[in-house]
Amino acid sequence: MTALVGESGSGKTTVARMLAKIINPDGGEVLLDGKPVPHGRPRSYARQVQMVFQDPFASLNPIHRISYDLVRPLRIHGLGGDDVNETVEELLRRVALEPPRQFTRKFPHELSGGQRQRVAIARALSVRPRVLLADEPVSMLDVSIRLGILNLLADLRDRDRLAILYVTHDIASARYLADTIVVMYAGQVVETAPSARLTDHPAHPYTQLLLSAAPDPDRVEPPSLAGSGAPPSLITPPSGCRFHPRCPHAMAICSTTAPPSVTVDPGHASNCWLHVDESLRVPDNPEVVAAKAGSTSLRPPAAPPR
Ligand code: SF4
Repeated sequence: MTALVGESGSGKTTVARMLAKIINPDGGEVLLDGKPVPHGRPRSYARQVQMVFQDPFASLNPIHRISYDLVRPLRIHGLGGDDVNETVEELLRRVALEPPRQFTRKFPHELSGGQRQRVAIARALSVRPRVLLADEPVSMLDVSIRLGILNLLADLRDRDRLAILYVTHDIASARYLADTIVVMYAGQVVETAPSARLTDHPAHPYTQLLLSAAPDPDRVEPPSLAGSGAPPSLITPPSGCRFHPRCPHAMAICSTTAPPSVTVDPGHASNCWLHVDESLRVPDNPEVVAAKAGSTSLRPPAAPPR
């Protein structure tokens, strides 16, 4: 499971919607099994890649009973077998809505937020996907029921070998749930690493800011935030490193030239000039240009950066 983490407006949901092919990218391609997915939203792709939305109430049709929401995708994709009702009940059992017959005849407004989100997950599972895109699946739920949904996702990952993209602004839950964390800022990926590594040794100043702002029950003093200000407009993003107006470590080059991705540890990459040797921190340096083009990978200097 991979978590895509960032504050509101960082572009996480846009990435998830693009992967679900609800919107098409202006540039680049979406690949499945290494092959480009044709334009539009082919039915075979929609079956393999399903999305769970943030607001479970808005994602279920209020005028239909729960059984309708689960039977419809089965019919569209020619699934469900001889006994579609049994398939629906099995789906409800998989998301721990038991006994299932208590739920099939209900309308969405008769369920709690957590139950509605479980139905939305059951609907996504109905077409037997390989990938689940979960866009902030717990952010609109009461705190007391969030853990149940997160554990359900973990169970689906472990038991059904489902690949899950967990989109969240909550880096603490990302660490709890995901194997890998990808941090986004202003529409760009700024850091990627295994979850424990990223939260224990954050390399990018923005990740450090996110972690310093995360609630910590052991912290007595208010957090001292390493950075201030609000996320920038994505229509006119800052030049160079998009985080430079908020970054406490910003240097002259940060405002003019976007940093390359630097491998700070095996499996751990961060896009920040702090990890680049001082002698290379100049615009158009061939090594840096090659690293940005992806033909080489930069490693940080042996000595700790400035
Ligand atoms: S590249 Fe510069 S502005 Fe951007 S995070 Fe690194 S030090 Fe800060």
